[in-house]
Amino acid sequence: MKIFVVGGAGYIGSICVEEVLNAGHQVTVFDNLSEGHRSAVDPRAAFVQGDLANYAEISAALKAAVPEAVMHFAAASVVPESMVNPSKYFHNNVANAIHLLDAIVEHGIKKFVFSGTCAIFGTPERVPMTEDLPVRPLSPYGQSKAMVEQMLRWYDQIHGVQYVSLRYFNAAGASEKFGEHHRRETHLIPNVLAVALGTKDHVEIYGTDYLTPDGTCVRDYIHIIDLAQAHILALQCRQSACFNLGCGDGYTVKQVIDTCRKVTGHPIHAIERPRRPGDPPKLVASSKKISSELGWKPRFNKLQDIVASAWAWHKTHLNGYPD
Ligand code: UDP
Repeated sequence: MKIFVVGGAGYIGSICVEEVLNAGHQVTVFDNLSEGHRSAVDPRAAFVQGDLANYAEISAALKAAVPEAVMHFAAASVVPESMVNPSKYFHNNVANAIHLLDAIVEHGIKKFVFSGTCAIFGTPERVPMTEDLPVRPLSPYGQSKAMVEQMLRWYDQIHGVQYVSLRYFNAAGASEKFGEHHRRETHLIPNVLAVALGTKDHVEIYGTDYLTPDGTCVRDYIHIIDLAQAHILALQCRQSACFNLGCGDGYTVKQVIDTCRKVTGHPIHAIERPRRPGDPPKLVASSKKISSELGWKPRFNKLQDIVASAWAWHKTHLNGYPD
């Protein structure tokens, strides 16, 4: 298939592009490079630098590429940033998604794969989290993604755009070539590995008084290659659907840091700090629906393997990407 990937120069997008190409599809990447890196775009893909905020740019790029499906990764995705700058999240994630969906309708494209998030659920009443839990986001980030899912239902019903929303839990790890390089890093695993690499002095633990086994937040870490595979399976899905996408295992922040100590052989100095606004205590996926309906199965479900792949990439890309 011809696949058009919006945000294909970012961390998740770039590795999905690589896997989609490996599966034999053709890819055009559209990215404004605000967060992404030109050198993170697989050289087998065509590249268009453009901005979703500009309707003419996205419309012209889709017209030229004539894709059968669009994957949409371009979004702001940092929960704490959204707690201080909601406007950025509603502009980037909601208003720009309307441009993309309208351009898809204009050019008659019928398949859409969306980067959803478990943050739409806020603090869930139970874990593992199934798809039918109430949508009650705790942050503008989670709210913005929930709003796009709501819009998608109407674009499907009215315009016949069939969609799959993959609600990511915590994406982590790397492929051999591509990895996680945010210009301002907020995520746990790269921050911990930066201490092992010597580019940071210590890592901060946000909150040690949660009702969890060691008082720190529990998250479900999914290897980026397994996450990418779900996108390839989503292309085969014949009806619109939302899937929670995680491995089903929860690890505390302290367990993640310990795993990083084991993998890197570095002591990793950690300092305990107060809670970070917008963080639910425990997020763990049920992968039942995606495994039974799409046949998805993680290949790397041990945290140690996920961290080891990230570590291998960071050691060979000490400053991340050059651009
Ligand atoms: N976290 C932390 N120190 C950091 C970064 C994150 O203690 O330097 C915690 C954060 O509060 C959350 C968990 O690690 O409980 C995962 O955070 P991350 O930002 O990686 O992903 P999120 O779950 O927010 O999408």
